[in-house]
Formats: sequence, structure tokens, C-alpha cells
Amino acid sequence: MNYDVKSDGESVLVRNIYCVGRNYKAHAAELNNDIPKSPIVFQKSIPALNTSEEVVLPKDREIQHELEIVVLIGKDGENISIDDASTFIHGYGLGLDLTDRKYQMELKANKLPWLLAKSFKGSAVVSSFKPNEIMEDFWLKVNGNIRQKGSRNDMVFSISAQIAYLSEMIPLIRGDLIFTGTPSGVGPLSQGDQLELGIGDHSIHSISVS
Ligand code: ZN
Repeated sequence: MNYDVKSDGESVLVRNIYCVGRNYKAHAAELNNDIPKSPIVFQKSIPALNTSEEVVLPKDREIQHELEIVVLIGKDGENISIDDASTFIHGYGLGLDLTDRKYQMELKANKLPWLLAKSFKGSAVVSSFKPNEIMEDFWLKVNGNIRQKGSRNDMVFSISAQIAYLSEMIPLIRGDLIFTGTPSGVGPLSQGDQLELGIGDHSIHSISVS
């Protein structure tokens, strides 16, 4: 298997996939969660990485989309300051943190880790990465209709704050990905759905669901 992502013409081997939960107030509210006081961090497995244009839904499970800005870490670092954080970013992309919501709710109710609800094969969808920051509004269309829309301004913890916090707890490695949280509008995917991920007026990644 190939666990590289493309960033600014380079191939970078992915080392860890970190995700930040409840990072937009409206999304925390839609799942009846409080706003966290510090970033909630969880992981997806490396075999979850999906750089293709296809999502294969696992059998008999309802899978929901979570549209997110994803950053690729370009150099190793620990105890990174908020001011320096952006210098550790190799590229910005969009991704889908695909989630078995029902299973996640069961695990949550039993105070168990979410890993198995978040890490099935192909569940960490990412576009290619570009060095320019994603400032404009980003969106997910399902069959031509906007399902999720986000703006970095609505984040509870900025991308720099996430990098600073995470790197105090765990050293970051070149090739780490951080899924930076989903805006509201999460919902189920069905076989045959056609997805577009985009920024402003541009679609940057297309996906067929089967
Ligand atoms: Zn997520």
C-alpha cells in the first residue's frame, strides 16, 4: 500500500493521522456536546488513509461525512509556539473524517476509545496539499447540493493553537496529518453519491461513493 500524500509537487509519507473533535461550536451543538476547554484529540489508523477518488462504504454500517481542513506537518517539532506553528506546515488540504456515528455513540456511552468507529479502510479521505493557507470558505457538495460549509474563523482552536497544544503533548513528525475539526452539517453517505470538496469557487477533489 502507498501511504504518501502529494504536497506542492512532493510525495510525503504519512506518519500519524491526528484529528481534533468538537472544534466548531455549531457542530458540537448538533451532537449535543459541550465546547471543550482544550482540543480533543484522537487518531485514525494509517491504513485509513485514502488519497483516491473513491470511498467504499463498509457493509451494513451507516457512515457519516465530516468535512475538515487537513494540514500536513513538514518538519519534526515539539513544544512549538503558536507564533511558530505555521512554519511547521508543509501544506493545506481538505479531507473527510468518515465516521461510523452509531458505533462511535456506543463507544462514547461506554467511555471507550473511538478508534474503531473512525479507522476503517479508506476512512481518512484527503485531497492533495498546497502551501497556501485555506482562508476562504470551504465546502462539501453531495450530488450537487451543499451539505457542509466552514470557515476557519469559526474554529474554537485555531490551526496554530492545535499544533502548539499537540506538540506539547506528543512530538510532531514530518508526515503527520491533522484533521482540524468539522463544521456543522454532518450526515450519512449512500452508495452512488457523488462528492465534491472545494474552496471558494473551486472544486479541489471529487469522490464517488460505492
Ligand atoms: Zn472529525
